Amino acid sequence: MRSANPAPHDLLPFPRGARYGPDDQAAVRDLLEAGRLSDTSRGPAIGALEDAFAALTNTRYALSFASGTAALHGALRGVGAHPDAGVVTSPLTWISAILVAFHSGSFPIFADVEPDGVNLNPTTVGSAGQASAVLVTHAFGIPARMDALTATTAVSGVPIVEDCSHAHGARYAGQPVGSWGAAGCFSLMERKPVSAGEGGVLTTNSRTVYERALTLGHHPHRLAAELTDPSLQPLASTGLGYKTRMPAVAAAIATAQLRRLEDRMAASETNLAHLLDVLHAHAAPITAPLMADGSTRGWYGTPLIVTEPVTDPAALFAVCTAAGVPVRPLYDDWLSSPLLQDPALLREAFPQVRHTGWRPPDPHALPNYQAARRQTLLLKVPDVPAADYMQQVGDTLATVLTQTIR
Ligand SMILES: *Cc1c(COP(=O)(O)O)cnc(C)c1O
Repeated sequence: MRSANPAPHDLLPFPRGARYGPDDQAAVRDLLEAGRLSDTSRGPAIGALEDAFAALTNTRYALSFASGTAALHGALRGVGAHPDAGVVTSPLTWISAILVAFHSGSFPIFADVEPDGVNLNPTTVGSAGQASAVLVTHAFGIPARMDALTATTAVSGVPIVEDCSHAHGARYAGQPVGSWGAAGCFSLMERKPVSAGEGGVLTTNSRTVYERALTLGHHPHRLAAELTDPSLQPLASTGLGYKTRMPAVAAAIATAQLRRLEDRMAASETNLAHLLDVLHAHAAPITAPLMADGSTRGWYGTPLIVTEPVTDPAALFAVCTAAGVPVRPLYDDWLSSPLLQDPALLREAFPQVRHTGWRPPDPHALPNYQAARRQTLLLKVPDVPAADYMQQVGDTLATVLTQTIR
């Protein structure tokens, strides 16, 4: 059903470039011609991608995985998450970033997001009690407050894992995401800012984290070539068998994609600035989340915060969609999902959870998270020049907000 106003009659189509271009196709063709799509060691395609991610994040090591979820699993193993103390995380993330705590033998502990923000609140991390890791998502490309988070955890020594799956190329206070914590993880799924089709990358400055993550699912050939830690050497001939390594063809595509990231980020930035100008000129009750000086956002849905109380977020979403504003739905509320609320279901899936301090979360316990779910609109911003389109979206969104909120 379409809303009566504003009329969506002459909306421009959403501007987009080709997802895969000639460079991606050439990279795949080269690999096919070489006839080498499965590499048990750190082959040229894999090595090139890992080097490119280490350069992007200014870290010493990067390790490729079959998925972002596997990279997170590797990172939690890397930093030593364990059953006796949980993994602190915000629920405003993709479900994988919550369930990996169980994969790693530990369990999630939910902490609230910042007021008027989308990321983990540094002050709630300290009060979350004893933890074996903190998993911070840079949600929807907005860099989390890494200086405050690292300061909070420095006292206890609890390692931070950054989930950068929405934030390829982003920086917090001038420093790349993925280099602040003990490890950073990037999903390279197709809709992410850099696509391998499917894939993931872990970044770290720690040789220990790198080698421990390597043992999760990389081939014994690679383990034998790279493990130096005497405590890990006994695993060199077997690894742990999760088979989490990235296919060479995925690495070749992602390396080609990464070369265009900067241009796409710049176009998105210009488009968002234009949109915010239009919204400001209309005095629309909406704003972008604050970012620290020297920060650069990543691009995976762009969160805007409605500044007047939204009583019916589903209705606002429907009106935006009907009017042609390119909004995308927020994640489900995982806190009230059957898997997290039903202990029998969870124990059946993750038997080792019996040995942990896991308890189902109170779905109403995190007021800022609940407020963010009501007040946040996630917008798709084109990554190609789109001035006319942004003008149109800004005008339309301002009209929708003025008519439905005030
Ligand atoms: C996509 C995503 C993941 C999981 O990545 P996959 O490559 O799909 O396994 C993890 N965390 C966040 C925040 C994501 O958006």
